[in-house]
Amino acid sequence: MEQDKNRQPSANAPKVNPYMGFFWGILIVLLLNGLIFPNIAKQQIKDTDYVTFIEKVDSGKVKEVAIENGHIYFSTEEGGKTITYQTGATNDPRLVDRLLSADSPNASHKIALNQIVPQENSPILNFFLLWVLPGLIFFLLWRQAGKSLQARMGAGGNFLSFGNSGAKIYAESDIKTSFADVAGQDEAKETLTEIVDFLHNPTKYTEIGASLPKGALLVGPPGTGKTLIARAVAGEAKVPFFAISGSEFVQMFVGMGAAKVRDLFKQANEKAPCIIFIDEIAAIGKRRDTAMGNDEREQTLNQLLTEMDGFDGRKGVVILAATNRPESLDKALLRPGRFDRRVQMELPDLEGRKAILAVHLKKVKHETIDMDIVARATAGSSGAELANIVNEAALRAVRLGRKTVTTSDLEESVETVLAGAQKKNAVLSDTEKKLVAYHEIGHALVAAMQTHSAPGPKITIIPRTSGALGYTMQVESGERFLLDKEELFNRVVTLTGGRSAEEVVFGTVTTGASNDIEQATKLARAMVTRYGMSERYDMMGLETVNNAYLGGDSSLTCSSETASDIDREVLNVIKEAHEKAKSIIAGHMDIMRQAASYLIEKETITGDEFMKIVRKHEKD
Ligand code: ADP
Ligand code: MG
Ligand code: ZN
Repeated sequence: MEQDKNRQPSANAPKVNPYMGFFWGILIVLLLNGLIFPNIAKQQIKDTDYVTFIEKVDSGKVKEVAIENGHIYFSTEEGGKTITYQTGATNDPRLVDRLLSADSPNASHKIALNQIVPQENSPILNFFLLWVLPGLIFFLLWRQAGKSLQARMGAGGNFLSFGNSGAKIYAESDIKTSFADVAGQDEAKETLTEIVDFLHNPTKYTEIGASLPKGALLVGPPGTGKTLIARAVAGEAKVPFFAISGSEFVQMFVGMGAAKVRDLFKQANEKAPCIIFIDEIAAIGKRRDTAMGNDEREQTLNQLLTEMDGFDGRKGVVILAATNRPESLDKALLRPGRFDRRVQMELPDLEGRKAILAVHLKKVKHETIDMDIVARATAGSSGAELANIVNEAALRAVRLGRKTVTTSDLEESVETVLAGAQKKNAVLSDTEKKLVAYHEIGHALVAAMQTHSAPGPKITIIPRTSGALGYTMQVESGERFLLDKEELFNRVVTLTGGRSAEEVVFGTVTTGASNDIEQATKLARAMVTRYGMSERYDMMGLETVNNAYLGGDSSLTCSSETASDIDREVLNVIKEAHEKAKSIIAGHMDIMRQAASYLIEKETITGDEFMKIVRKHEKD
């Protein structure tokens, strides 16, 4: 597996010394100084005029003269000090004679004549100083910058080639992770099994002309096993796995991320069938409507969209992406032909937690563990936290000098791991759990008593990502297009069932019914204003729906007097429904109690299990 050593190339990229730049900077300044002002000594030079110069020559004070580049530099000895002057060179033909005569053997002193001809370096030296040396310096600087860029890009690519990202994305093959390593999450597995089958056997699908979804989006809270299940899909399908994190696409230069996407798809096409997995896709897939755009991110996202549209869906490249913020994703990503499948990963319920603990306990030596105790103590925690708990327990066992993990190790580590997490995650307290359980059973019971059938496939009291504390899946048996007045009214009754249970059982009301209230009101209102189901308004249309495709808000088409009358009518419907729900619940308290305690215990109850309880009591 070349994979692992290659995926972190920045680790063995050359180390960049931050002082290097400083060093080169100083060197350049020194060299430029040397090149442009090579002959100015760093001592003080006084300006003077030509006449003064001649006077000083004649008076014998001048000791040394240098003429170059239209300047005369000379030094005198006055009062024991050497002073250097400069003056402009005039075109004085007698100057040299004068200086030489002052230099004659019978003169009182000699003047040293330096370089009367303007200084010229040898052409070879000039060429070296002016061209070769700066060239060399810039070459070195360039290389240095290039190296540091490469280190930051985290890839062994070539700095100069902007055409491709240069970042090789290595496919992992031979992945050992399988669905067995992912405990629970049965619904997610079911959806992904189809993709596995497709990758195994693409011809079966292509023969018939079908092309499978190109992409599936794994959605769920952190630590629920999104990354894990993506690997498991590759492991099950036995295909190469290209894994990359969304943030790895976001590069320093605009265009680099897009190039990386192009490269990725090119490589994937060569290896098809295979899986591309983009973890934390929100890093590039965020909605593009923010005022402060990020060019690099947008270009990368556009490239991704283009590639997803461009590649042949029958070739067997499947793209999985994971996020815990699906609502922040760009709508364009979610449209059909891109990530049109959504795989929901939820926090595990009691059974799920037991299964996850079992998976992770396989990796450590342990005595017989009372899973029930541990699973019960960890309501609301994620798979990652459970994995952590098992590991902490093993560490504790080692600390205490034992060779195996015991139940008490696990119980202890639950506290260390969850003490912080409890507050972060919505872990229900026991009273809350009881309230939520009765609320949900209230919905279920009212639904069941009215239709004489299962209220839905599943009721859970696991806190949801959406913020709902409990959940009664209300799936109608079969698609329904026409509903009669009684059915609609019964739905309103069912919606009020949760709150009614709180009132009947606990004599209290909570904030938990806000969503029920909203839905019940909408439904009752529609009955009055749009479906013509009130005695009072008969078939008069009182409302029109504006945007059926965008949320479907509606506006009244009647006078304001009628509007307040409508409110009264709606209120009557709801009140009637509420009363009905309360009387149903009060009449079946035995079922309520039994079903609720089952739910509190197991955290999930299926529709069939619920109906068993109902039927048992109805027989009595
Ligand atoms: P996510 O990507 O959803 O944040 P990860 O897939 O990275 O979560 O999960 C982190 C770790 O938690 C996994 O490596 C695994 O050990 C553990 N884990 C999470 N969910 C499960 C699960 N359903 N079954 C077994 N282990 C799990
Ligand atoms: Mg992850
Ligand atoms: Zn409710």
